[in-house]
Amino acid sequence: MNVRAKNQPQLSSTPNHANATSAFSASNIERIRADFPILQRSIHGKPLVYLDNAASSQMPQQVIDRLAHYQTHEHANIHRGVHTLSQNATTEYENARLKVMNFIGAKESREIIFTHGTTEGINLVMHGYGRRFIGEGDEIIISAMEHHSNIVPWQMLCEEKKARLRIIPMNDAGELLLDEYAKLFNKNTKFVALTHVSNALGTINPVREMIATAHQYGAPVLLDGAQAAPHMAVNVQDLDCDFYVFSSHKMCGPTGVGILYGKAALLEKMQPYQGGGDMILNVTFERTTYNDIPHKFEAGTPAIAAGIGLGAAIDYITAIGLENIAAHEQALLEYASEAARSIPGLKIIGTAQHKAAVLSFILDDIHPHDIGTLLDQEGIAVRAGHHCAQPVMQRFGIPATARASFAFYNTFEEVDALIAGIHTVKKVFA
Ligand code: PLP
Repeated sequence: MNVRAKNQPQLSSTPNHANATSAFSASNIERIRADFPILQRSIHGKPLVYLDNAASSQMPQQVIDRLAHYQTHEHANIHRGVHTLSQNATTEYENARLKVMNFIGAKESREIIFTHGTTEGINLVMHGYGRRFIGEGDEIIISAMEHHSNIVPWQMLCEEKKARLRIIPMNDAGELLLDEYAKLFNKNTKFVALTHVSNALGTINPVREMIATAHQYGAPVLLDGAQAAPHMAVNVQDLDCDFYVFSSHKMCGPTGVGILYGKAALLEKMQPYQGGGDMILNVTFERTTYNDIPHKFEAGTPAIAAGIGLGAAIDYITAIGLENIAAHEQALLEYASEAARSIPGLKIIGTAQHKAAVLSFILDDIHPHDIGTLLDQEGIAVRAGHHCAQPVMQRFGIPATARASFAFYNTFEEVDALIAGIHTVKKVFA
């Protein structure tokens, strides 16, 4: 993929984005978009402008083809069969695990556990680690900008174990207050669960340094990477996180599968999450011995096709390059933010210095659901609501925001369409 330097010719000559620069050349972005059949669709007679990527991204033909090929030619249950199809399916599924390992820089493939998604990964750690190692009077630190998936499981644990949840506060820009974070630690701190990138605000948290702080107190750290893994290069060894979770459907892969990375030494100490087939070595009515990691945490038949599809999605994203993806999405964010700031009555929620390509906003006193519905009439898909982060909304004193979230296949022209759409919404409510 060509990386275009700043000040080189623009993606398009339309005046609105004449000064915007991208990591992709015009022909590159056209080729990328051609890979995504759904982007050719019209909605209400208008070209689809898909800006709901933080909720779920779209799937390229290469991944669709891989899924179809598997179902057409390769399907069988894995791990237990001696016949050719089963052995081949097992090889493909385990190859996908290796691709994930390389994608996030894990040391060993047994540190990669297939889950149903981010939510299940967090619940697995809460059950497997939390229920075993956290007790009465212990403290768990989370941040003020967590998705409900990284709040509710820890609340459930605290209620059950009489432990205490401590919250890292944030400033008005949506940045965590690191001094306050450091003050939360004491001898009772037993765990930290933190989002790498906020889905509601876009904030990229300084997780490397936050992990180092937690480790000084001996507390393991789980990172919720749902909004990071699709958009930036992640290396779990470099970050030194203890657990990392993310979902396939936010990174061009199928729904129904996600990843939990865990350091082998911790995974080995944890209790299994679910009991059943595949997670055992031996079962009698008196006693069961558990399988080794990662299988100890993978009870029952997994989403085999989806796992293999995730492997294909990783191939696709890797071929484009996470650095190129991040640079293009940053250019879209900067361009969109500047244009949005010039709209009277529009307020961006989440203005952190380090941000991923999420533009959350409120507009006059128009309800975000009305913004979302009117933009949909223009063919523009954004999300409106609390984004499963109600405490973030409470922090900013608002019920909801409208949120445009960008992917590498979005264009400056689509940002222009969004801005024009917002002007239309304003006119309707004028
Ligand atoms: N965490 C974050 C930051 C998210 O953005 C999401 C989904 O939007 C989740 C967790 C939950 O992901 P899933 O629904 O795929 O389990």
